[in-house]
Amino acid sequence: MNDLNSLAHDLDNCASCPLRKDCIAPVGWFGDSHSPLVIVGEGPGGVEDEYGCPLIGPSGQLLDKALWSVKITREHILTTNVIKCRPKGNRTPTPEEAKICADKWLTQELAIIQPKAIIALGGVALKYFRGPQARITQERGKWFRTPQGYDAIATFHPSYLLRLTGKAQIAAKWDVFHDLQAARAKVLETVPDYHFCSDQPYPLFRHFTKRN
Ligand code: SF4
Repeated sequence: MNDLNSLAHDLDNCASCPLRKDCIAPVGWFGDSHSPLVIVGEGPGGVEDEYGCPLIGPSGQLLDKALWSVKITREHILTTNVIKCRPKGNRTPTPEEAKICADKWLTQELAIIQPKAIIALGGVALKYFRGPQARITQERGKWFRTPQGYDAIATFHPSYLLRLTGKAQIAAKWDVFHDLQAARAKVLETVPDYHFCSDQPYPLFRHFTKRN
């Protein structure tokens, strides 16, 4: 396996676990396959399953705003998820489900891309890399090395931000802003001329249509 296109073809046909029967189809990744920065979310929700794109629903729209605030647009990085098939009812995938899927697909994606930095978006991604004891509230904003040897930082998932209100939401949004800034700076240490941003946020919905 040596490129993301062939990996995507194999992913389309994956039926390695029971989650496949409850979704429209696996949702892979989006963005620049040569990006030094990869954002790893949890798994597809309803909108992501409908459109076949990671982080395109309400969480993804908030993520795009946060990325824009640190001068990153989506097509210049790669966004993906730990788990590729939407768990029924949008429930949180179990660590076992996450491991089965990510060991099979995410590890191959990362091996192809060889990112300089990974952002683990939320607790499911953090636990996949750090183990089930990891807590996002304690470990966000701290750099760690994944078992595969990539530099990674965890931050809050946008779906968590959307559930917060008032001062708690404002504080968590600032935390995410600083974590995204840190990830951008980490990449620029090794790829100082990397171009992270276009003139406008990337219009994801213009490029994806509903699938069924
Ligand atoms: S969740 Fe992952 S391992 Fe399970 S069927 Fe979907 S793509 Fe395959």
